[in-house]
Amino acid sequence: MGNRQKLVYIETLGCQMNKSDSERILGILSSIGYDETEELRDADLLIVNTCNIRQLSADKAYSRLGRWGQMKEHRDIKIAICGCVAQQDAEKVFKRAPYVDLVFGTHNIYELPNLIKRTETETNVCSIHKKQFEADETAFTPVRKEGLNAWIPIIEGCDYFCTYCVVPYVRGRQRSRKIEDIIQEAKNVVKQGYKEITLLGQTVDSYGRDFNDGKTTLALLLRELAKIEELLRIRFVTSYPTDITDELIETVRDLDKVYKYFHIPMQSGSTEVLNRMKRRYTREEYLNICNKIRSQVPNVTITSDFIVGFPGETEEQFQESMTIIDEAQLDYSNTASYSPRKQTPAATWKADYIDHPTKKRRLQIINAKVKDYSLHSNKKYEGKILETIVEGIKIENGETILTGRSINEKIVHAKGDFDESVIGTLVQVKITEGSHWCVKGEVV
Ligand code: SF4
Repeated sequence: MGNRQKLVYIETLGCQMNKSDSERILGILSSIGYDETEELRDADLLIVNTCNIRQLSADKAYSRLGRWGQMKEHRDIKIAICGCVAQQDAEKVFKRAPYVDLVFGTHNIYELPNLIKRTETETNVCSIHKKQFEADETAFTPVRKEGLNAWIPIIEGCDYFCTYCVVPYVRGRQRSRKIEDIIQEAKNVVKQGYKEITLLGQTVDSYGRDFNDGKTTLALLLRELAKIEELLRIRFVTSYPTDITDELIETVRDLDKVYKYFHIPMQSGSTEVLNRMKRRYTREEYLNICNKIRSQVPNVTITSDFIVGFPGETEEQFQESMTIIDEAQLDYSNTASYSPRKQTPAATWKADYIDHPTKKRRLQIINAKVKDYSLHSNKKYEGKILETIVEGIKIENGETILTGRSINEKIVHAKGDFDESVIGTLVQVKITEGSHWCVKGEVV
C-alpha cells in the first residue's frame, strides 16, 4: 500500500442506527489514516455493516462477502464485517467466509484501530464482546454525509425483549450516553453547519432510565439541546408507546425547535397479538397515548410500524391493525410481514406460522390502507400555513420548487422565487394540496 492514504469502502445495510454507526466507524478509521472511497475497486479495506432484522438483509450481507472474497483472490485487500449479523454469528462468519479478516460487533467500534492492526499479523480476528460506551467516545468525530441533518445516537440496545426482535440479543441492554457528551456532539455538528439533529435510539424515550438518577430524561435532554442557538430543529426516533410521559408531550408542545412528531411503533392492533409479541400495552392503551398527544400538541404527526402475519395472527386480528389506523389517526405507517429471526421466541412457534401468500395479501391490504390514510392526513393541511425548513431546490417544468420538512414532519414541495441561499432556512408555506406522500404549497 506504500505511503499513500489508505481507502475504506463501507456498505451500510439496514436501519438508521447502522448508518450512524458507519459515520462513527469512518471517524475512527480517519484517525488511523483511512479516507472513505465510494469506489469499491480503489479500496484497501472493505466493510459491510450488516442488519439482521430480516432474513433478506442477512443474506445480502453474506452475498456481499462472497463477491468481495473473489476480489481478494486478485488484490491485496482486507475484508471486515460488523453490525448485527457480525454480533450474532461471530466466529461462524469465518466458516461461511474464511477469507474475512475481521468480525467486530456493535459494541466494539472503538477498538477498531487495534483490531485493524491485528489483521496485519493475524487471520480471522473477531471481537464481539459487549461493553459500555467508551469514556473517550467523543475523541472521534463521525464522518457525516453533507446535508442539514446530523444523526446522533443517544441510547443503545433495548430492555424490552419483544418476542420477534433480535435487538436486545445483538445490541444488548439499554445504555444511555452521558447527557454532556450528547450536548457536546450537538454543539460540534452545529459548528460544522448542520441545522437540525435527529436523536436516535431503539427506544429513544427510555433515555436516561438506566442512570436511575430520577432526573435524566429525554425531555430534559430536549430542553438542554434547544438552548443551542444556531440549531433550528430537533427530532427524536423511535418511541416505545408506554415510555411517552406527560413531561415529554408537554416539552414537545412547548419547544418551538422540536418537531411536532412522534414515531410510535404499534406492531399490531390486536391486544392478543400484542401479548404474544410481549409488547407491554393493549390496543386501548396505545389509543389513549395517541389521543393524549393529539389533545396536547396541535397539528402533531404520529406515525407507526406494523408487522402483519405474526405467528397465529387470525384474519380478525389482522383487521384490528387495519381499524386502529383510523381510530388512532396514524398519519403514516411502515409495514412488514413477519420474518422469523434466530434466537427469538416467536421463531420457534413454527406450528403457528402464517403461510406466505396470506402474509403477502395482508401486507398489500394494509399498505393500501396506509396510502389512503396518508392522503387523508395530508389533505387536512390544505389552506394551513406550515413552518418549513428548506432542504433543497429543484427546477420542474421551468418552475423553481423548494423541498423541505414542515415542523410536523411532512415533506413539503413549494413554488416560489428563490435561489440556493434559501437552503437551511425556515420559511412559511401555505399548503394548497395534500397528496399521498407530501404536501404542496407556496411560500408566503
Ligand atoms: S422495543 Fe423495539 S428494539 Fe426493543 S425488543 Fe421490542 S421491537 Fe426490539
